[in-house]
Amino acid sequence: MWVSVPVLAKPRKHGHEKAIMTQNASANLVAVKQRVDHALSAAGRPLDSARLIAVSKTFEAQEIMPVLEAGQRVFGENRVQESQAKWPALREKYPDLELHLIGPLQSNKADEAVALFDVIQTIDRPKIAAGIAKAITESGRKIRCLVQVNIGNEPQKAGIEPEKADAFIQSCLKEHRLDIIGVMCIPPVDEDPVPYFENLKRIALRNNLKQISMGMSGDFEAALAHGATMVRVGSAIFGTRAKP
Ligand SMILES: *Cc1c(COP(=O)(O)O)cnc(C)c1O
Repeated sequence: MWVSVPVLAKPRKHGHEKAIMTQNASANLVAVKQRVDHALSAAGRPLDSARLIAVSKTFEAQEIMPVLEAGQRVFGENRVQESQAKWPALREKYPDLELHLIGPLQSNKADEAVALFDVIQTIDRPKIAAGIAKAITESGRKIRCLVQVNIGNEPQKAGIEPEKADAFIQSCLKEHRLDIIGVMCIPPVDEDPVPYFENLKRIALRNNLKQISMGMSGDFEAALAHGATMVRVGSAIFGTRAKP
């Protein structure tokens, strides 16, 4: 059951993934942006062909502020409730920021997610697609969405199975009338991500979708070499979390 959190409440810390270090976040941002540019150049891609999403989950407003002041405007969060506690106040100061939901979504949080986020990257099953579509209609907001693909077919991970992705994407577009702009994935850990990046790119291409959200702190350069248009980078900017 959703309990509303006052706008200025301190974000709740989740014991299992407590933020432990944010010194130099703005310097880290500069370094990550240079690495993104370098990876794009090396791949022969224009520098504006991919966007950096700064993943600020577990970090508090005061830790995010220096990164906003350094000019970053696109952020990713993985929990609706945590985001509601910290982002409305930040958005008042920085009205041009763009917030992406990159974490699993429950259908009972659809209204809250649609009220807060600009882009929802984790549409991964019909019930969520229907719930988000309904919430968008009711709110009148324009929300762009990505379909999350469980690219490694891992039972513990969210996402539509790769072999069902085409049909699901088409039903999101045609039945649910969602503004699906791309696909997103998190490849299996401790494996070469490149074959998974390549497969996500193929899914995007054959469904005519422009946005490919893949690559995190450990592998964003490889993702950019294989076509990522959005990289989601957390710890390389904000510092390590106790648990990713
Ligand atoms: C936490 C998270 C990231 C960022 O991970 P880092 O390794 O800290 O860069 C990217 N994508 C998703 C979906 C995440 O949950």
